[in-house]
Amino acid sequence: MSQDLCFKTAAELSHLLKDKAVSAVEVTTAFIERTERLDPQVKAFLNTDAANALAQAKASDERRANGGALGPLDGVPVALKDNTAVIGQSMTSGSKILKDYISPYDGTCTQKLKAAGMVLWGRANLDEFAMGSSTENSAFFPTNNPWDLKASPGGSSGGSAAAVAASFAPLAIGSDTGGSIRQPASFCGIVGVKPTYGRVSRYGLASLASSLDQLGPLGYTVEDAAMLLQVMAGHDERDSTSLNVAVPDYVGALQANIKGKRIGIAQDYLGEGLADNVRAAFEKAVQFYKAAGCELVDISLPHTALAVPVYYIILAAEASSNLARYDGVRYTHRSAEVSDAIDLFAKSRAEGFGPEVKRRIILGTYVLNSGYYDAYYLRAQKVRTLIRRDFALAFKQVDAILTPTAPTVAFKQGAKVNDPLAMYLNDIYTIPTNLAGICGVSFNGGFSADGMPMGLQLLGDVLAESTIFNLTHAFEKAHPEANKRPTLA
Ligand code: GLN
Repeated sequence: MSQDLCFKTAAELSHLLKDKAVSAVEVTTAFIERTERLDPQVKAFLNTDAANALAQAKASDERRANGGALGPLDGVPVALKDNTAVIGQSMTSGSKILKDYISPYDGTCTQKLKAAGMVLWGRANLDEFAMGSSTENSAFFPTNNPWDLKASPGGSSGGSAAAVAASFAPLAIGSDTGGSIRQPASFCGIVGVKPTYGRVSRYGLASLASSLDQLGPLGYTVEDAAMLLQVMAGHDERDSTSLNVAVPDYVGALQANIKGKRIGIAQDYLGEGLADNVRAAFEKAVQFYKAAGCELVDISLPHTALAVPVYYIILAAEASSNLARYDGVRYTHRSAEVSDAIDLFAKSRAEGFGPEVKRRIILGTYVLNSGYYDAYYLRAQKVRTLIRRDFALAFKQVDAILTPTAPTVAFKQGAKVNDPLAMYLNDIYTIPTNLAGICGVSFNGGFSADGMPMGLQLLGDVLAESTIFNLTHAFEKAHPEANKRPTLA
């Protein structure tokens, strides 16, 4: 029984809890036991606190017994990426520089999860400050892909995706700046959502690049992800970029008929570098949507090739500024032997940051340097506008755009970690979404010959989450094998 609970979706657990067929303590205990038994192989979590999770579950059961359940996800566990603030918990952001930091406050997303009665379970591993695509840049250890323990789970939310794929938690929170929710979801065979910029408050998320960052949900099914986004989304005065727009009923929109919906196909996303098996999965999905009565429309996103270089200028510029706060003076690691203030900053940062973070800080300060500002940063912003315009034009013609999530299935650990450029190019299909501020869902499009999941992506216009949930839910309903789980023993 307890193992079975771990293989239920969040929606199923919600029903069981509502019917009082199980208690939140039973559910939470099942996930704790499975995590304790199997996470030594997967290494999804940096930190867990079973006693704390059980106390939350007990409180949920008491509420329900008194007729005061807080919503459909009351008593359902959720894992959090370790770059989100939970009062009294770690928030390492995958970095040595924040190794001993304990958050003194709850971020807005955390507050919303708590207000929904969810059981916060496990702090998931990530690439340092969310810089990476494999979780190998974590200062602590890499996470393993539950489908092949020698492969990467993707990144930077690799711990969140692996935790869900390994059934250590039914749901997880990740952050996506250039693909960090969708690419790990793709590599781990689950669903991951990058919401529209401003849909979810960033208050309490360790900033990487503030004009690109979004928190989002990961789960086994589109319905589960929609349920979690329902809780997370909404306006927040503490994040000035948060949108003051009502949150629609995402779950209610899942069942709508998809007949007549227009789906865009861009050859710009199907060129060199796309693996044959992923291309075949993509073609199958195209056939599915055609057969379901959707209209497939050729569109053009001509500035796609510029997205990766432009992203690495804008991201590095914003990151170098955001990470200036980790100075050895306030809440971070402080070097033990220093001669003066400058030495304190320099040594604390040299000891606390890993190589990828240093690379990007140096790149960022370089492109913001007054002599180069116009040549790099300003130009990159102009190209960003062109990319945004590509999508705006496309969404005049179509309701959604279908693409692969990543060019290949999960690569082996070590395969790209010493070649930053190869790693950067892995995000070619996810990065433009963040530059344009639109939304996207990665869902499992099937399995390769050797059993690895192949993620596909459906992009939607600003605030069109309901449309892409509806379309991907329809695919999932017709492909139950997409929800298969890996075997871990
Ligand atoms: N892999 C990309 C990068 O390294 C995206 C990271 C992210 O979305 N946080 O920047």
